[in-house]
Amino acid sequence: MGLTGIQIFKLLPKTNCKECGVPTCLAFAMNLAAGKAELSACPYVSEEAKALLSEASAPPIRPLAIGSGENVVKIGGETVLFRHEKTFVNKPGLAVLISDTLPEAEVNGRLKRFKELKYERVGLTLRPEMVAVKNESGDPGKFEALVKKVKAETDAALILMSDKVENLAAGVKACADRVPLIYAVNNGNGEALAKLAKENKCPLAVKATSMESLAALSDKLTAAGLKDLVLDTGSRTLRKAFEDQVFIRRAALLQKNRSLGFPTIAFPCEMTKDPMKETLIAATLVAKYAGIIVLSDFQGEILFPLLVERLNVYTDPQRPMMMQQGIYPIGNPTETAPVLITTNFSLTYFIVSGEIESSRVPSWLLVMDTEGLSVLTAWAAGKFVGDAIGAFVKKSGITEKVKHRRVIIPGAVAAVSGDLEEELGKDWEVRIGPREAAHITAYLKSGN
Ligand code: SF4
Repeated sequence: MGLTGIQIFKLLPKTNCKECGVPTCLAFAMNLAAGKAELSACPYVSEEAKALLSEASAPPIRPLAIGSGENVVKIGGETVLFRHEKTFVNKPGLAVLISDTLPEAEVNGRLKRFKELKYERVGLTLRPEMVAVKNESGDPGKFEALVKKVKAETDAALILMSDKVENLAAGVKACADRVPLIYAVNNGNGEALAKLAKENKCPLAVKATSMESLAALSDKLTAAGLKDLVLDTGSRTLRKAFEDQVFIRRAALLQKNRSLGFPTIAFPCEMTKDPMKETLIAATLVAKYAGIIVLSDFQGEILFPLLVERLNVYTDPQRPMMMQQGIYPIGNPTETAPVLITTNFSLTYFIVSGEIESSRVPSWLLVMDTEGLSVLTAWAAGKFVGDAIGAFVKKSGITEKVKHRRVIIPGAVAAVSGDLEEELGKDWEVRIGPREAAHITAYLKSGN
């Protein structure tokens, strides 16, 4: 169990110097106890106190990484129950299950879909990251060969699943540099798998059928020096899996229960045979609170909604997704191409730029920093008004790219045109574009 705020406070310097960003040592202690501050933010903690506080200042859910290179899946590290309190930080890894009993064509199909199902959205690439390789054949050679194949053909972060320690050892040997998750310790194999995980510096999954035995197993492994654990409660129904996820998150955050302070893994693939139901179960677990979600297969209609849901749930609700302020050329524009202006809210940018692209009229799009607000919201907040837009246009550098002096503003803010003309001066013509982005294509095609 972690220390309380008062217990932590007793170990702090009590000078209230504010250097940690809060007004008092007591406030800092409370934040530390709640997992909302890092001990390193106070430069004056003694070494002795640091040692005592290390447990209290550790994140309530241990963060860990699976995989290597660019596709490292980070899970855990969460500090809140609800995303309106603070953003969720490490989105769940989405894995496809591939068994060594599957026909080769099916294995190849799943790997192909793993590689190809990627989507561009609001400037990000949405994709699955993990492959769970399962040793159902019981044959170490078959398992090792499949692990090698998945490793060679993909950049996937790997989960190695087997009931047999020696088969897991063969799998780990084939991909130790990929830092796979070894699945899973149960009551009988703890010592051997702990040794395998330690020797290869791999995270280890722990599976039990009750919360008590799960906590006991995780305590045993922690005492043996293993830190990177992933919990599987063994539940294979939606209701129980959902309850378990919530129980673990609450125990770790509210009760500071270190035995359950680890990310989790869930298996919708073992909860139903109906792909639609499986997707709905996975969607529930994206929201509440799985660290890894293993699916039986990836299909576009299953994966895309989960990826978008995951993006939305794990985006900071207090910080809009923003584009960089600047000039965005669309379709190789020349010095006579139209100049349009919009705000830097990502969704606005992608909708507007998409419409411009659809028109096939090469254009310059000026994107103005409005702190991520959309056009009307930015206007209402006084951030997308005539003088501000004019100042931005003048310093944007667009006059070096076009020889005309015409700028098209969104129709929704037509009211700013007078102020904008005044700010830009008589050389400039301000044109009012369509109110709706959907009409930009027709507007540009008509020669405006
Ligand atoms: Fe107290 Fe340290 Fe914060 Fe200063 S920086 S107020 S000493 S906790």
